[in-house]
Amino acid sequence: MTTTYLWTPPPVRSLPVRGKDERLPINRIFCVGRNYHAHAVEMGRPVDKSVEVPFYFTKSPDTLVESGATVAYPPGTENYHYEMELVLVVGKVGFRVPESEAASIIYGYACGLDMTRRDLQLVARDKGRPWDLGKDIEEGSVVSEVVPMPGKVIDQGTLELRVNGVTKQQSNVDKLIWNIPELISDLSKFYHLQPGDLIFTGTPEGVGPVVASERIDGSVEGVGSIVLHVGSAE
Ligand code: MN
Repeated sequence: MTTTYLWTPPPVRSLPVRGKDERLPINRIFCVGRNYHAHAVEMGRPVDKSVEVPFYFTKSPDTLVESGATVAYPPGTENYHYEMELVLVVGKVGFRVPESEAASIIYGYACGLDMTRRDLQLVARDKGRPWDLGKDIEEGSVVSEVVPMPGKVIDQGTLELRVNGVTKQQSNVDKLIWNIPELISDLSKFYHLQPGDLIFTGTPEGVGPVVASERIDGSVEGVGSIVLHVGSAE
């Protein structure tokens, strides 16, 4: 018997894949917090890897927007920030994956913008509340085309972001506090990672605000580039 629904179910969220006609269906969006030392310091929360473990937050798959989009300046904030990130795309199921086998579940990579209501995030952080209003933002997870690189661990590459052509973030993936195998191994202690899970690996220093009519463009060396146009508030 065919299942029927009260209303049309939400669409499958997906991304284009370089060199393929098929699109990549998205499962979950995980984000790593404070994974570059200089960014952790600029947020006033330095990281000591010898005594700390990675931490994560999630963004709903329906926050996904493709590179090139124009998005409305979101409601409820006066401090909307960009965060340029390398995004890892999971291609296989992985649970309690040892670091030595982490590469085996990698499908590829993309460029990502983890857009953030910084004012709301910091209020939540300082009051010990969840970060959802600061991070889980409609049209707030911007991702480029996916570049297939099965089994490849990216351990270096320049990462840059510009606003209206002015460089705001410039770092290197070799500065990740927890690297790609460490992240896969750690996150898979808590989740059965699935094909289509995205992992935003964290942003370097230089985060800052954008306003309506500004254009963000970013790149990760060896992966690709990403563009976002910020529109007026609704
Ligand atoms: Mn981030």
